[in-house]
Amino acid sequence: MKLIPIPAFDDNYIWMLHDGRRALVVDPGDADPVLAALQQGGLTLEAILVTHHHGDHTGGVDILRQRTGAQVFGPERERMPEPLQRLRDGAVIQPLGLRFEVLLVPGHTAGHIAYVGQIPQEDPVLFCGDTLFSAGCGRLFEGTPAQMLDSLTRLAALPDATRVCCAHEYTLSSLRFARTVEPDNTALQAYQARAQAQRQKHLPTLPSSIGLEKAVNPFLRTHLPGVAHAVQQMAPSAHDPVSVFAALRTWKDQF
Ligand code: ZN
Ligand code: FE
Repeated sequence: MKLIPIPAFDDNYIWMLHDGRRALVVDPGDADPVLAALQQGGLTLEAILVTHHHGDHTGGVDILRQRTGAQVFGPERERMPEPLQRLRDGAVIQPLGLRFEVLLVPGHTAGHIAYVGQIPQEDPVLFCGDTLFSAGCGRLFEGTPAQMLDSLTRLAALPDATRVCCAHEYTLSSLRFARTVEPDNTALQAYQARAQAQRQKHLPTLPSSIGLEKAVNPFLRTHLPGVAHAVQQMAPSAHDPVSVFAALRTWKDQF
């Protein structure tokens, strides 16, 4: 299977998975680049997977459904372009004959879901929308810090080799913040050099992996004394895991 990030808008990626004939896309905020990729590859769009209701993830859904007849999947509890099949936590779908499990990961929005796909003879894929970014995480527009920490903890428990397909190219700016939180993290330094080299060539830094994110992403590392200590320089009263996470998110919002 081919896994391709289709760039859209300024910094979105619409992920496409295809076998040379049949394709699925995730979070098509814009139909045009998807239609171009389908035409270029001679592909039939079979499924559209949506993670949450924001317009930069849903704007192309109606046109793509009308033009291709693709089946649309999305969260159970969010306002969505209808018709679609709504999915709750633990649901399993089989687009392209592959097995995808749905995880409810509230925080960025109240009903945000992620998709974990199993591909024979390949590493699993995670389509996590705006929940987990490489070296960062989504802003808390609708959920609480406790919900987001819980959601990220679920994603961090996936196998290390899982390919992390985030919906935005935010890696370099997230890394600048991560380096401020953990200046002595050597994995972070090495990753920043690799990511800068990719971006200089106008290539995506993604997909990342769960193993890499556990080594570099401060939002998956709030249980570590070094991260908690750095947060406490900014928010001295933050001690329990949820307050450390909340203060880290607030710090990033103001960074
Ligand atoms: Zn969003
Ligand atoms: Fe987004």
